[in-house]
Amino acid sequence: MRKNYMFTPGPTMVPPDVLLAEAAPLIHHRTPQFSGILREVGEALKELFGAAGDVYIVTGSGTASMEAAIANTCSAGDKAICVRGGKFGERWSELASAYRCEVVDVDTEWGRSFSAEQAQELLELHPDAAVLCVTHSETSTGALTDVEAIASLTRNSDTLLVVDAITSIGVHRVEMDRWGADVVVAGSQKGCMVPPGLSFIAASPRAWEAVEASTSPRYYLDMRAMKKNWSKYQTPYTGPVSLVRALHEALAMMREEGLENLYERHRRLAEASRAAMQAIGLVLVAEHPANGVTAVWGPEGVDTGKLTRKMRDEYGVTIAGGQGHLKGKIFRIGHMGYVSEDDLLICISSIERALRDLGYDFEFGAALSTAHRVLFGE
Ligand SMILES: *Cc1c(COP(=O)(O)O)cnc(C)c1O
Repeated sequence: MRKNYMFTPGPTMVPPDVLLAEAAPLIHHRTPQFSGILREVGEALKELFGAAGDVYIVTGSGTASMEAAIANTCSAGDKAICVRGGKFGERWSELASAYRCEVVDVDTEWGRSFSAEQAQELLELHPDAAVLCVTHSETSTGALTDVEAIASLTRNSDTLLVVDAITSIGVHRVEMDRWGADVVVAGSQKGCMVPPGLSFIAASPRAWEAVEASTSPRYYLDMRAMKKNWSKYQTPYTGPVSLVRALHEALAMMREEGLENLYERHRRLAEASRAAMQAIGLVLVAEHPANGVTAVWGPEGVDTGKLTRKMRDEYGVTIAGGQGHLKGKIFRIGHMGYVSEDDLLICISSIERALRDLGYDFEFGAALSTAHRVLFGE
């Protein structure tokens, strides 16, 4: 018998009730029934974003909302400061280039977090920058960025802060309004426990001014159309009805757990994962690790591609390898969304088995017992 588990940093495991909601018979997207669902989903998303303004649903994976952020707030020739330091940070730079911005790339070493001090320097050097694009939780390295500290600087400047919160929404508390972030984007298939295909975007009042002023070409991702339709709880084009029903159920589950408990569970899962890996002599990639994904350097001489394939093909447990130049060198444990504390022990146990089978010499069971103690010991 084999049972499959996904401890991947997206897509993540989807609860059975969410899958059942998705399977409900279709309703038409221009109906009071669907508008009612959109309204409730919108309210719950505002809570997750910490936003008083509306959060729009975009049909398309997280990158669609990232593209909407750039297309709507920038115009060709605008200066865009893009913090790289990971695969997703690089995407901001690629998007800003695609929209003909004057891109200022900021490279932080992968695993390091972009700091408020760096932001301060850049804002002084480029007071004319239209946007500063950052990644709250850089999924390729597991590094967390202190968005609150950076927003405290951008809010007093003419530069809009654009935040990829795709693996932090539903994992870390995000307070868009209180922090003063200008555009925040998220996706369905990470902390939100919904299959891929939806993303979310919210903009501050001053970001909306940029949306109105932008001369970028845009059509499907035009936020002005999203806003106009959302006033009637509709989507500009055919709404992703089944995925929205799945999201409606997932948000209800999150509300039932309680947001404080939700964030606390992720904190505990992350703490247990880090401690477990360190207990068997492994080193974390991130200096300031996020709570949705734990990235770990593979042991000397172990190809982490082999590790992840072995776990997936032989034990039915899927984790992720490294991306870009970290391919083969690191592995990443996704512990966001529908992951319980007991689930995590299955993941840690599989990692230990695979490492042993690949010849890594360590005290077998030390990771598992450490995770067990961190989670349930006190
Ligand atoms: C998953 C992810 C994305 C978006 O990727 P899609 O494949 O388009 O959903 C962007 N940023 C981060 C940090 C992510 O984890």
